Amino acid sequence: KDLSQIDFNEHLNPEQFEAVNTLYGPVLVIAGAGSGKTRTLVYRVARLIEEGVDPESILLLTFTRKAAHEMLKRASELVGPKSHLVSGGTFHSFCYSQLRTYCRVLDYPSNFTVLDRRDIEDILGLLAEELGLKKETARFPKKSALASIYSKKRNCMKDCLWVLKRGYAHLTHLAPILEALFDAYQKYKRRHALMDYDDLLINWKTILKNYPEIQEAVSRRFNFIMVDEYQDTNRVQAELVRLMAYTHDNVMAVGDDAQSIYSFRGANFKNILEFPELFPGTRIIKLEKNYRTHQPNLDCTNAIIANAQEKFAKRLVAVRSGGRKPLFYEALDENDQAEFVVSRIKDFILKGVEPSEIAVLFRASFHSFQLEGLLNRYGIKYVKRGGLKLLEGAHIKDLLAFLRIILNPVDRLSVLRVFTLIPGLGEKGVQRIYEAMIKVDDPLKAVAEFKTKAKWHQPLKELVHRLLAIKEKDLGLSDLLKGLTSIYEPYLTDRFPDDYPRRLQELNELSLIAGAFEDPGEFLTEVALDPPDEEETYGKGDAVCLSTIHSAKGLEWKVVFIISLVEGRFPSPMALERDEDLEEERRLFYVAATRAKDVLYFVAPRLVNVSGGGVVPGKRSRFLDEIPPGLFEIWGNKSRRFNTPGKQELTTPEPVKVGGNGFRVGLRVRHQVFGPGTITKVIDNEKVAIDFDVVGSKIINTQVAKLSKI
Ligand code: ATP
Ligand code: MG
Repeated sequence: KDLSQIDFNEHLNPEQFEAVNTLYGPVLVIAGAGSGKTRTLVYRVARLIEEGVDPESILLLTFTRKAAHEMLKRASELVGPKSHLVSGGTFHSFCYSQLRTYCRVLDYPSNFTVLDRRDIEDILGLLAEELGLKKETARFPKKSALASIYSKKRNCMKDCLWVLKRGYAHLTHLAPILEALFDAYQKYKRRHALMDYDDLLINWKTILKNYPEIQEAVSRRFNFIMVDEYQDTNRVQAELVRLMAYTHDNVMAVGDDAQSIYSFRGANFKNILEFPELFPGTRIIKLEKNYRTHQPNLDCTNAIIANAQEKFAKRLVAVRSGGRKPLFYEALDENDQAEFVVSRIKDFILKGVEPSEIAVLFRASFHSFQLEGLLNRYGIKYVKRGGLKLLEGAHIKDLLAFLRIILNPVDRLSVLRVFTLIPGLGEKGVQRIYEAMIKVDDPLKAVAEFKTKAKWHQPLKELVHRLLAIKEKDLGLSDLLKGLTSIYEPYLTDRFPDDYPRRLQELNELSLIAGAFEDPGEFLTEVALDPPDEEETYGKGDAVCLSTIHSAKGLEWKVVFIISLVEGRFPSPMALERDEDLEEERRLFYVAATRAKDVLYFVAPRLVNVSGGGVVPGKRSRFLDEIPPGLFEIWGNKSRRFNTPGKQELTTPEPVKVGGNGFRVGLRVRHQVFGPGTITKVIDNEKVAIDFDVVGSKIINTQVAKLSKI
């Protein structure tokens, strides 16, 4: 591509152009949804490369790995493949990669393990037990609550008491005990070469702060730093950017304080307003034109955010002309809601709208339950945005533990998991071996030389021998996993005599997924932090998107439905007590409504299902009632019941074919690894096709797999 061909002027408005062409010094672009902030970043990457800047000196920080890929792909359409050399990703994955190089100064080995949420909870449980806290303390918080408290404490840089006062007021008397447990947790991680999600940021910050040589090297290496969605960064992230940019101050941050939706991770929408204080001399650029949608949609979304207590001073004006007001459909119940959405989707597809241009958004993942069933029934492909629940199967966890031991032989949780697979070897035994392992330079060899007369020693020696052999081969990740699968196989068949063939097949699939990653450590980290979603893994391009609003951030579709707009669903019941939480819910609603390019639907059922069965009357969400009248239309004239040509067809049930074990089309089932799904076809007495909520369609043999009906 001839570089001089791009006329940036033609693709950008004057304010965007100014931002793109301010190559040096701090710049803050603060602007509303759909005003072209992300586009500005993409063009700026292209502009820098065109200017001759080494792409490897550009760092692009985004909220998901996928967002970074997407942006760099767009940049490469402008200036060619060099854009792919730009370092891009999430704060966490970036910090991980830097820590791999530099963590030795903190006495961490470079093969440290990143803990996922389950690991963290397991360790906290273990330590609470060891310290005798559970027995001594009445109403000791759950492990998951502990993990959240500690994470908030660290991201907000406060003590436990501060966190408890905001959200766990009934536990404030436990503050000293929780601090003690926290200290034990910190020590434990260090001793076992472990880091959690928050450590990645905090340890990297510690290094930058305490080692000026490293700080300087990194700052010179990444001479241009750009951050998208800056409103969702927390204090630690802001300080990281500040520390890394100290030699040059070439930082561009873009964001919208009205779209801040991650306070539960310690983000604060005021952070973006403090950017100019961190970077004196910041050039602030505001974008006021909206390119995403038309004026009627914009009038409505402007009104939504105008209801916020905080006054966000950004009024957007649409560039596009025409357009229709958003539509509101009040459904009878959740089934009717799903039927309405599906009938509209069918209609749009018939009219030529690409399925991938349609999205259904909801506050919480389970709100799409009925809808998914119905989409399956009508054979409409969809993808659900969110993580693959890869780690749930015990056999998958086993295999990953093998991999972790190869990478980090003193990873205690993995050592425990793997060695106890050996018959006769229990936790106490492993604990003794483990203590011998951490004392020496070559922990795996220490196992083989461990002095004991126990029967399990010979099989253990053989296992370790095979692990050492495979480690020496220096295989690529995919082959390494295959090799480890074969080492694991005999244990697998012992452990799961009923259904090991199916599990083995899944382990092989895992090796395939891993093929997309070069580095095993990176793979494990990503699986723990930002698991590949099904779109990435299986590449279902042409499908309707079902997404929680959090995962829809920054994206856009021609047609957007926001469903379950009733009190207790949206706003969420957890948010009703504190004003701040309610305000965040409102911003979340604003994020949802601003995803639409052409058509926006609000949908609310009159009756909502309650857990345990039955329905209760729902109350329409306050966020809808707050919108001044006239800014949206009611769907379907006066009659509440909608009536479209597709309707007749929709309510005719398909003939039901019943397979072996009573599995039939439409039945919801749970698979141990793939999670919940709906049977879409009964193939024969053994096999059924299931469309899993997360991983999509698969043929499952019901004689082998343990499916439970849900
Ligand atoms: P959000 O706050 O939701 O992340 P954003 O400010 O990042 O939104 P973008 O996603 O960059 O907005 O842009 C919204 C849409 O407007 C995109 O389709 C983008 O291509 C288009 N757009 C932005 N600026 C221009 C422009 N100058 N000319 C034409 N299209 C534009
Ligand atoms: Mg954006």
